[in-house]
Amino acid sequence: MASKDGVVEMPESETEVTGEVHGQAMGPGGGLLACFGHPDDETFGSGGTLARCAAQGIRVDLVCATRGEAGEISDPALATQETLAKVREEELRCACRTLGVSRLHLLGYRDSGMAGTSDNHHPNAFCRADPAEVVGRLVALIRSFRPAVVLTFEPHGGYGHPDHMAIHRFASEAFKISGDAHRYPEYPGPYQPARLYYSAIPRGRILAMIEYAAKAGIDLGFGTIPVSEIGIPDEEITTEVSLASYAETKRQAMLCHRTQMGPISPFSQLPPEALEQFLSQESFIRAFPPFPPGSPREEWLFP
Ligand SMILES: [Zn+2]
Repeated sequence: MASKDGVVEMPESETEVTGEVHGQAMGPGGGLLACFGHPDDETFGSGGTLARCAAQGIRVDLVCATRGEAGEISDPALATQETLAKVREEELRCACRTLGVSRLHLLGYRDSGMAGTSDNHHPNAFCRADPAEVVGRLVALIRSFRPAVVLTFEPHGGYGHPDHMAIHRFASEAFKISGDAHRYPEYPGPYQPARLYYSAIPRGRILAMIEYAAKAGIDLGFGTIPVSEIGIPDEEITTEVSLASYAETKRQAMLCHRTQMGPISPFSQLPPEALEQFLSQESFIRAFPPFPPGSPREEWLFP
């Protein structure tokens, strides 16, 4: 974040959000590091999966690059542009407690806003961050936590948000090099996580939601983003996770994000059957190890 006189403050380090932290993950079989751009990214795309991991005793840490301070405010009674970063941080902590996230690592960059907006040019905007610095911070986290699985956005970040695309690049690069002792030797203990996954929303599911909503007379309000640029082709999905038992937990975590979940939010307006489907299924692309073409989809992120 920048202070009022424009001086960029040092990025912030990790903060613990729940009391139950059991040290490092134990290598393959344990530990998931989720890396996203804004408060709510963790819940909308993969909240059920994070909740299921936590419920199964798999430690989940969350990296959130910004505090979502450039986003719209659902209800002016909840925050002002000045207080939004603080309010969204509290909302994120609420979601982390709800999902069972052990540690929240706030990188402290500024939300870059949607592509083409003036927020892109803020000196601390995440999309302008020094790649070597961000990758180094993620490598340090991977080497100290030693997760089996790293999770981030797919390359397009769902709908082309600059911060989603940036965290995808940085987390993917950190995954690739964290096992190389010659890279970032200042962070000791090279460690290679076993798997890299990208959170992805299949376009077919988005189209189905839009259709459901249209039948109920609701405009899902994707605004100026063409539907053809939201989500990814269904055939690229490698991993389809059923999460009906975690749908209620995910719904509760969504409700934590009050400044994003007002009555005007598309998700608040979805017909129950469409919301149920959205809450009960999450989809991923396994980026590493490569997924054998033509194989049936996996049903979980861990072997
Ligand atoms: Zn986001």
